[in-house]
Amino acid sequence: MCGIVGYNGNKDCVEILLDGLSKLEYRGYDSAGIAVRKDGNIEVVKEKGKLANLREKVEKKKMTGNCGIGHTRWATHGEPSENNAHPHISNDGSVTVVHNGIIENYQELRAKLERHGYTFYSETDTEIVANLLDYYYKKYKLGPIDAIAKTMVRVRGSYALGILFEEYPDDIWVARKDSPMIIGTDKDGSYIASDVPALLKYTNQVYYIDNLEMACLKKDSVTFYDLNGDEIKKELKTIEWDIASAEKEGYEHFMIKEIHEQPEVIGKTLNSLMVDDKIDLSKVGLSEKEIKDISQIYIIACGSAYHVGVCAQYILEDLAKIPVRVDVASEFRYRKPILDKKGLAIVISQSGETADTLAALRECKEMGVKTLGIINVVGSSIAREADHVLYTLAGPEIAVATTKAYSTQLIASYALALEFAKVRGTIDNKEYNEIINELKTIPEKVQSIIDKEIDDIQKLASKLCNLDDAFFIGRNLDYAIALEGSLKLKEISYIHSEAYAAGELKHGTISLIEDNTLVIGLATQEEIFEKTISNMVEVKSRGAYVVCVVPEGSDVSKVSEYTIEIPKTNKYLYSSLVVIPLQLLSYYISCAKGLDVDKPRNLAKSVTVE
Ligand code: GLU
Repeated sequence: MCGIVGYNGNKDCVEILLDGLSKLEYRGYDSAGIAVRKDGNIEVVKEKGKLANLREKVEKKKMTGNCGIGHTRWATHGEPSENNAHPHISNDGSVTVVHNGIIENYQELRAKLERHGYTFYSETDTEIVANLLDYYYKKYKLGPIDAIAKTMVRVRGSYALGILFEEYPDDIWVARKDSPMIIGTDKDGSYIASDVPALLKYTNQVYYIDNLEMACLKKDSVTFYDLNGDEIKKELKTIEWDIASAEKEGYEHFMIKEIHEQPEVIGKTLNSLMVDDKIDLSKVGLSEKEIKDISQIYIIACGSAYHVGVCAQYILEDLAKIPVRVDVASEFRYRKPILDKKGLAIVISQSGETADTLAALRECKEMGVKTLGIINVVGSSIAREADHVLYTLAGPEIAVATTKAYSTQLIASYALALEFAKVRGTIDNKEYNEIINELKTIPEKVQSIIDKEIDDIQKLASKLCNLDDAFFIGRNLDYAIALEGSLKLKEISYIHSEAYAAGELKHGTISLIEDNTLVIGLATQEEIFEKTISNMVEVKSRGAYVVCVVPEGSDVSKVSEYTIEIPKTNKYLYSSLVVIPLQLLSYYISCAKGLDVDKPRNLAKSVTVE
């Protein structure tokens, strides 16, 4: 989950490293450091806390150089401290390393290295890698590639590594297994980064380094190697995202910018999945026969992507009449699931690097189940490993709390449900066309909610920001959105919040309702509207302060202290609209509390460790 950057070229590397790290700070941010080569020496500077602390230290030292690596850390082994921050150096300084991932057998390796006289100054698993590289480098004297390959065979776990060998002043070396890493190139040099935003300012020309591969970056060339040390050829790819999408562009936070981008990216994603007013999944590559043969669907994801899965479950089962089971990825992989070979596993991940989701995908593939990824980042691990990929076109999402990626994932799930229903003959033309026509109005309806609600929700947020607890309730699709609304609130405002299926409240949670407890009631589904309202009455009679989100014209006067009306739409599509005021409310509550909205404590954007 950390961020790695590196540069080797004609320009000064220090600003490129610091700027790149600032673009990756959302991935982890408890400490940071850089290593820069200058006149044969490698200077390492590290600092605890935010990147600004590192910048200050680096500027004081007036560091310069043309080749260096940098890291922003999200600690897994060892507390966040300057000592544990990366880069890490081997005992005699011959190897310097930045690492994203976890070395699972680090204790065993540490003991082995200690037997060979190595000592350790940090608690990290990464320092073991630096010394193991040094050990093989000196033992076999066959150069960096051999030492890296031997280390890769010996370590268990996940890693993206950026490595400097003291005796190879012209090179940066990299290796990768199960942690993200891309390599960029332009006329001024070669770059490494954990994610695209760190590179976009300099180049959109990248190589994707695969699992168990290595590379050597010189100023003017990049050479790739397999685990045998044999050279391999790679194709240079162009990234379509533009720089502006990874900048704040005048907004106070990335989150509010990304909320505002939703009409555009929803429209873009929808257009990419439609031809002549029909869903067209030809780019995804599932044939009609394959769709007809699907016996059941397993949706696997984490966090907000899991909530998209819960929405998708309701819609797919209702529209396409296929049994669907949704799993949290970290549970799926260890619950020994029984999968039908004619099933389809749909994995959802913005980054395409979510470690648990990636592991679940591999589990499904091993069990012979076809896999489809709903992914935002082209070339990411899941995108490369899934049998089929449906790309969301959200562009780079920087705020840790997802908004636009979530909204485009919803669009992807509507498209799949509609197409599966059509191919399997479970929807008639009239309903199909009605939903398509409504789908096309979603971008403008989202825009209208933002325009209409933004000021009022800001006021509501300042009133609610001192709360200790909140409950989100709803039934069916509204319950799926309640899950997302609740997560959004707790992750960025640190207010304890729970989502409950409205009918489930009376089986326990209602005992928590007291005077002025905030309950946000979502009631968009006509068939069960009355039932949800009854549940709201139950909490109101116990003193709750009820905020309702309902389609315009609904009568909630009996229960609601504050009502947010959203435009009417098709029953399957309400999720896309209801989520908008919930995102805005969480955002403004976090702002009102003066919190770091884009980088909430303890969280990282893409969770690339288990
Ligand atoms: N496991 C390493 C550490 O704790 C790297 C963590 C990361 O990916 O940031 O230092």
